[in-house]
Amino acid sequence: MQHLKTSITVILLTIVFTGVLSFEVILPYETVAIVDAEDVVEEAIDDLTEEETPTEEDPIVIDENAKVVYLTFDDGPSPDVTSHILDILKEYNIQATFFVIGNLAEQHPDILLRTWEEGHLVGNHTYTHNFRHIYGNPQNFLDEVERTDEVFSSILGTDYYKSKFIRFPGGSFGKRLQPFRQAVGEAGYISIDWNVVTGDAEGHRVSPQKQLTRLQETLQNKKEAIVLMHDSNTKQTTVEALPEIIDYLISQDYVFKTLKDYEF
Ligand SMILES: [Zn+2]
Repeated sequence: MQHLKTSITVILLTIVFTGVLSFEVILPYETVAIVDAEDVVEEAIDDLTEEETPTEEDPIVIDENAKVVYLTFDDGPSPDVTSHILDILKEYNIQATFFVIGNLAEQHPDILLRTWEEGHLVGNHTYTHNFRHIYGNPQNFLDEVERTDEVFSSILGTDYYKSKFIRFPGGSFGKRLQPFRQAVGEAGYISIDWNVVTGDAEGHRVSPQKQLTRLQETLQNKKEAIVLMHDSNTKQTTVEALPEIIDYLISQDYVFKTLKDYEF
């Protein structure tokens, strides 16, 4: 009887001990996810800077509670503004998305190349940005998008893969643009609008303070914020506003990503 008791105790202890062991094995991921999501996000960001994008099985991707911001810049490249924006983003080690106009890329290939080489996503913003022409009919629009793709490939070389991301000049909103949305969708493109603005296109030389206020008004703690900004030559005050805008987003615990990581 005593022998039996000892055996049962040993078995129970073994079960408990094995249980503890296996519990310890899963503990790190599960506990951190519940206890401190922010730490996990920070770890994930650290890891992302060292490695490629993690696979689906990668246990580090537990940032369900993280707020994500996608900074987007339209209407470049321009020598007076885009380069300064790239400098600021580099300083903060942040990647953004640039919706580039094809004919301006032809004029400033060096800036496009720098944008690409510094890890930003290059998206398509048509070849001319001429509303009358591009919105004349869906085929005009598609032709300009494809022409811009060819410009990108000729400047960025074989490393460049055809960008599937486009932004409609003025946005893709409204019933009238439905045939246009359908045409680009069938051609394999994904069009992206925005849900946050800085108002840098709502006037001439919009002050940095006003841009920050517009961002705060429209951000409203959104879990996924796509911020519309502009890097055309006249947008010097966007350069001036950018550090404060980034500092504010950091203070609100946002993680910065390019639209490559946007979940569709
Ligand atoms: Zn535009």
